[in-house]
Amino acid sequence: MIKDTQGRFLRNLRVSVTDRCNLRCAYCMPEEEYVWLPREEILHFEEIGRLVDVFITLGVDKVRLTGGEPLLRRDVPRLIRLLAAKPALRDLAITSNGVLLGDQAASLKEAGLHRATVSLDTLRRERFTLLTRRDTHAQVLEGLTAVARAGFSDTKIDTVVMRGVNDDELADLIEYGRTVPAEVRFIEYMDVGGATRWSMDKVVSRKEMLERLSQRYGRVEPVIEVTTAPADRYRLPDGTVFGIISSTTEPFCSECDRSRLTADGLWYLCLYAQKGIDLRGPLRTGASDDELRALITGKWEARRDRGAEDRLALRDREPLLQVERLKRDPHLEMHTRGG
Ligand code: SAM
Ligand code: SF4
Ligand code: SF4
Repeated sequence: MIKDTQGRFLRNLRVSVTDRCNLRCAYCMPEEEYVWLPREEILHFEEIGRLVDVFITLGVDKVRLTGGEPLLRRDVPRLIRLLAAKPALRDLAITSNGVLLGDQAASLKEAGLHRATVSLDTLRRERFTLLTRRDTHAQVLEGLTAVARAGFSDTKIDTVVMRGVNDDELADLIEYGRTVPAEVRFIEYMDVGGATRWSMDKVVSRKEMLERLSQRYGRVEPVIEVTTAPADRYRLPDGTVFGIISSTTEPFCSECDRSRLTADGLWYLCLYAQKGIDLRGPLRTGASDDELRALITGKWEARRDRGAEDRLALRDREPLLQVERLKRDPHLEMHTRGG
């Protein structure tokens, strides 16, 4: 186990398997056209497997596949099989926009995936089309049904809450989640990566969400648990549990055990980090496991990142990045570093 300068262990690795996406969510990919990572630079599954092995020896026991849309990468079940064969991984999950889950949920389950998180911001088709610029709402709902049918449990629905966009659907989403079944987690809108149209007045804080849900349901109790998971969980009077990820107004950097590996092998120590550490280079030029371990350990032990807390301390907060900067360095994009 390795610790950073703030005493935080490295336990959690998010692996982006592609930077491509079949949606264009306004808070993540507001442009229509993007420059994609060159194909030859994308890590092969065996290369991902080797890096995960090295990370495991340093304390990582949770891996989440993400992207871009991870299911756009060909034959993801093969990667899952490769990772599921590592007994040290206590948790092997995927975050998907759900569009392709109708076709793939059963094969992901069969390959050994432990659980799935599906992003869904609205239950209204027209709203979904406006927000994602693709008319595939029905596929996402079908994807969630397929996840349940395939026998997954502990499914989550992640919803980015934006004022004036979908903040009137909190209760509807909780009700829908019950039927799937899936636990809904409301994410505060963040000023990361492609969120070039972010502004603080569009953020609905955890406090406000709880007030609104208490008005609707009565007493909302916090679920008391000790965990480094980003969501704080709450229970409604009828027992339904939901989560809130308050990354913007009450960040949880002091407990952050997460890091991110991009599809082309750059390793980021924080969602807000400007620069990643190249692991593909050493991997492809024959570095030994010990050399990779030394590289990773040195960087983690020097880690000071508290990106969301630093952002919160700013006075006049604007979007983190503008389009031109993102075009010059696509690794700054959320869909490249993996949300
Ligand atoms: N395409 C997959 C999906 O949407 O689930 C996986 C990658 S996506 C970048 C991962 C998560 O990041 C999604 O749940 C998405 O809603 C979230 N996300 C992207 N931009 C965000 C923002 N500006 N604020 C908060 N969450 C954001
Ligand atoms: Fe939306 Fe996920 Fe695609 Fe970003 S990567 S545009 S959040 S589906
Ligand atoms: Fe972790 Fe950085 Fe997010 Fe803070 S902002 S929780 S340090 S990834």
